[in-house]
Amino acid sequence: MTASRPVGIDLTAVHLIVAERFGVEVPTFQGEGPSGGHPALFIRLSRCNLSCTKCDTKYTWDWSQFDPRKEATKQTVAGLVTWATSSPVELVVITGGEPLIQQAGLVPLVETLLAAGKRVEFETNGTIAPVRELLVDGIRFNVSPKIASFGMDEAKSVVPAALEAFVASGRAAFKFVASSAGDLDRIAELADSYRLTPVWVMPEGTTAEAITATTRVLADAVAARHWHLTTRLHVLAFADARGR
Ligand code: SF4
Repeated sequence: MTASRPVGIDLTAVHLIVAERFGVEVPTFQGEGPSGGHPALFIRLSRCNLSCTKCDTKYTWDWSQFDPRKEATKQTVAGLVTWATSSPVELVVITGGEPLIQQAGLVPLVETLLAAGKRVEFETNGTIAPVRELLVDGIRFNVSPKIASFGMDEAKSVVPAALEAFVASGRAAFKFVASSAGDLDRIAELADSYRLTPVWVMPEGTTAEAITATTRVLADAVAARHWHLTTRLHVLAFADARGR
């Protein structure tokens, strides 16, 4: 299925709740997963339907620590399109929080970006099945189910129907954060149960030292399972600075 430009939609009247956007004014890279190292623009949406203890973007949802009036703005799809198309960078990463909470507004955004020659990657926790309008050429889903060691009850973070929808889409890569060999065993169970492929493993860590140490713990075991291994390039390059 290919995308077409949305007809008859006033993009100034469709809004998304945005935590931050970056990559135009100060260029950056996709730091993780299949497009790691590619130049990228980022639109980070506010709000999440999970509450992982180890979340590193709590400013998108944890209002016990952050003030939503400071951490989120309502932005028009028209404004986001103007911003993204002001850059020659092809890849637009839509992340969060959990971006698919706001699918209704995302459909015209994505359709317009694709019509403008962009490609789009979603970073999603895999709990919300994508709507049909998002299953089009030029879109990929980097699906990151959160396992228990990440500080989330899997009864909430592993949603079989949503995972099955991502598998069926043929547009998903499954990226798991891991810190131990035990995590890899749990990832293997999930991958087997739901036929998740390709599997990417990303070492947990918000410092270069932690990522390097965890990479060395995991690398042989990831290779032995014939999975993919990704680093967190933005942490290595920019010290996990916000907006990079
Ligand atoms: S799913 Fe992602 S954004 Fe949401 S709480 Fe967990 S780590 Fe944070």
